[in-house]
Amino acid sequence: MTDDADAQTGSSPRQRKIIHVDMDAFYASVEQRDNPDLRGKPVAVGGSRERGVVAAASYEARKFGVRSAMPSVTAKRQCPDLIFVKPRFEVYKAVSQQIREIFAEHTPVIEPLSLDEAYLDVTENLQQIPLARDVALAIRARIKEVTGLNASAGISYNKFLAKLASDHRKPNGQYVITPETGPAFVETLPVGKFHGIGPATSARMNALGIFTGLDMRNQTLEFMQANFGKSGAYYYWISRGVDHREVRASRIRKSVGAETTFSQDLTAFDAMAAELQPLIDKVWRHCADKGSRGRTVTLKVKFNDFQIITRSRSVPVAVASRDDLERLSVALLQNEMPVRKPVRLLGVSLSSLQGDDEDEAQLGLPI
Ligand SMILES: [Mg+2]
Repeated sequence: MTDDADAQTGSSPRQRKIIHVDMDAFYASVEQRDNPDLRGKPVAVGGSRERGVVAAASYEARKFGVRSAMPSVTAKRQCPDLIFVKPRFEVYKAVSQQIREIFAEHTPVIEPLSLDEAYLDVTENLQQIPLARDVALAIRARIKEVTGLNASAGISYNKFLAKLASDHRKPNGQYVITPETGPAFVETLPVGKFHGIGPATSARMNALGIFTGLDMRNQTLEFMQANFGKSGAYYYWISRGVDHREVRASRIRKSVGAETTFSQDLTAFDAMAAELQPLIDKVWRHCADKGSRGRTVTLKVKFNDFQIITRSRSVPVAVASRDDLERLSVALLQNEMPVRKPVRLLGVSLSSLQGDDEDEAQLGLPI
């Protein structure tokens, strides 16, 4: 293939390049990496006891039909030599963090689905690699180098197809689905293999004579909506290889806040604005000490009946001074005047979102 998902086609001005990266048998592979005795052997991460379930199975175990979410007793029956290993989530989390750092070398638009899976939008990737398939190759090679583990990748023009594609050459492979090949790829696929279609929906589709992507595509939008409600439209479009969902970067709030409960309830603006001052001092001092910055100021108000409301305001760049923090906080309070009930507590917080730093770094890049 010379053309691919990366090519800007005339039909869609916002053609995107999305990679779905999925680690191969993640927990089990980490255990085999860290304990050579487990290599080449059927391994299940999870509890071996009566009520235990398999959290992850090595490829050697999968040959015997051992799958994640399978009761451990069933797994043991299918594969008598199965070795059970206790999960070490702290280790998996640390490896997951290493992997995310590798992703971040290529794009800030990372949507983790779990510790071992993520969507990346690499339409405009930081290393300006023209083809998404090459970004995927670079990421997978780097993951191998840093963690010793194999990853597979699916590369396409939307999330739905990228996720399907990552399964297609597993383990340790990658696959590209282009706008030209997308609809055909979906055609032959059993509906049960569609991401988001579970066994129950799959059975209902089968009962309606819908077994493959092609069967689904032969239905009208009205039919799909009538039978599957809100999801009907989503199915209708994915059966045509169309999925406009964006890759959503996960944003974790980190905030610094302070609050105070008054000795008696307040209703006057001036009195409350005065009470805000020490809170603003405290928050600002803390931010200055920690070197943390934030773009979102939140005012918390607790009334005398213990009802709590919060009001926030975000600014485009990090709040730069105590005065700015005061101005924003007081304005939020002003907006609540006159207060609907006597106020018993006020709080102020300044929060940043993970990723804000990168945004700012990007703004500062030379053109
Ligand atoms: Mg995986």
